[in-house]
Amino acid sequence: MPAFDYAPAPESRDVARLRASYGIFVDGQFRVGAGEAIKTVNPANEEPLAEVAEAGPADVADAVQAARNAFEGAWGRMPGRERAKYLFRIARAIQERARELAVLESLDNGKPIRESRDVDIPLAAAHFFYYAGWADKLEHAGFGPRPRPIGVAGQVIPWNFPLLMAAWKIAPALATGNTVVLKPAETTPLTALTLAEIIAEAELPAGTVNILAGGPSIGQAIVDHAGIDKIAFTGSTEVGKAIQRAVAGTGKRLSLELGGKAANIVFDDAPLDQAVEGIVNGIFFNQGHVCCAGSRLLVQESVIDEVIAALHRRLTTLRLGDPLDKNTDIGAINSAAQLARIRELTDAGEEEGATRWSPPCDLPDRGFWFAPTVFTNVSQAHRIAREEIFGPVLSVLTFRTPAEAVEKANNTPYGLSAGIWTDKGSRILSMAGKLRAGVVWANTFNRFDPGSPFGGYQESGFGREGGRHGLGPYLA
Ligand code: NAD
Repeated sequence: MPAFDYAPAPESRDVARLRASYGIFVDGQFRVGAGEAIKTVNPANEEPLAEVAEAGPADVADAVQAARNAFEGAWGRMPGRERAKYLFRIARAIQERARELAVLESLDNGKPIRESRDVDIPLAAAHFFYYAGWADKLEHAGFGPRPRPIGVAGQVIPWNFPLLMAAWKIAPALATGNTVVLKPAETTPLTALTLAEIIAEAELPAGTVNILAGGPSIGQAIVDHAGIDKIAFTGSTEVGKAIQRAVAGTGKRLSLELGGKAANIVFDDAPLDQAVEGIVNGIFFNQGHVCCAGSRLLVQESVIDEVIAALHRRLTTLRLGDPLDKNTDIGAINSAAQLARIRELTDAGEEEGATRWSPPCDLPDRGFWFAPTVFTNVSQAHRIAREEIFGPVLSVLTFRTPAEAVEKANNTPYGLSAGIWTDKGSRILSMAGKLRAGVVWANTFNRFDPGSPFGGYQESGFGREGGRHGLGPYLA
């Protein structure tokens, strides 16, 4: 079937209300950080978007002190039913500014506007709504009759879902009565700093939430600060391990949400057209910059040819290009560094003997781009089957029996997510029980809900975010 031509339908960049410069947010005030002034760029064309004043070590000390004062003062003394009102207010303000935040996220991150508009921003609001509901019911949450907050939470997040990850961190921390020092990733600070504006407008007591732009050294300064009681980190396994070493013996509480290499398993009785949609959503959503991406496709041998043919057909219809265009399916890679990592691993895939395929696809001249890529003839020993690529790259393996599928799916140091595609309910239950993954999706993939816990095993980390379970890491 010939693909339809689509007229461009770009969302207006002006909606983002970009400012020339952004400050950090400490003790209820915006200020110019003592660190470097960096320019954050649009990964779709490498043009600078805004200047951001990064925090320096003195800003970290001020932010931690402000968070301590708020914890011992107005926020710490506030009853849950009052805290809930602030969370509801933040949630509503995110909804009111949803279009602005979506455009800003797509500009700073490179993700398609369709995703930031329909997934990132609505889910960020939903997290605040959900945890607002828990704030006055903590004694019924299953953490003892009088659960207490831990104190000052230091939170460090990555660039793949900048506002959503901030919401995942801040909402449960506030609902449980903690105060926060949060650092967004260096390449995507803009929506977190706009969230700081929303928090200021919601009139939270000064110091309850502090947001510091900066790179790894500021993340490390937060982790190492003696005034922090709990660290919540989302990012790479390598940095997660370093943080665990730094925190060991300090008495600080720790939760880690790290990398993944999820198996997406397709049985021969699955509705294959639906499964192909799930495979595409599993690995090409957000350019594959998803910790729980279905990056290892396991297909039952009897339907491999049919699945690969359908997948090729479907991939030739995907549109790669301007993230602000509402027709775009695949946006830009977030940074030059990430693009280099994807290239290194895909080159290794070819060198190790796997077969590489991409649909015909014109990449823009400027910016960071990578065509959707599928590797077949992949063996479990290949780097592309073992290492997290964090890009739009699918490695396809086959299996004959359910037992072989389980063995191959579990043959990874990670354990964040998995997917099962089959017509049989009993098989779903039996497989889900055997897969060592924190989240197992059945006949769907990459579904998120604030009421559902999310987190990993093994090198994917520990602790849960979302749902009732997500309260636990913030309660003593
Ligand atoms: P990264 O670990 O390089 O950086 C994450 C954050 O940590 C950034 O804010 C960075 O500035 C900071 N940081 C870097 N070094 C630090 C240090 N030594 N001490 C303290 N902070 C430090 O990861 P990334 O490349 O930005 O993100 C991609 C990774 O995040 C992938 O591995 C992905 O799987 C993972 N991730 C996991 C989840 C999850 O929920 N499990 C969600 C999203 C992303």
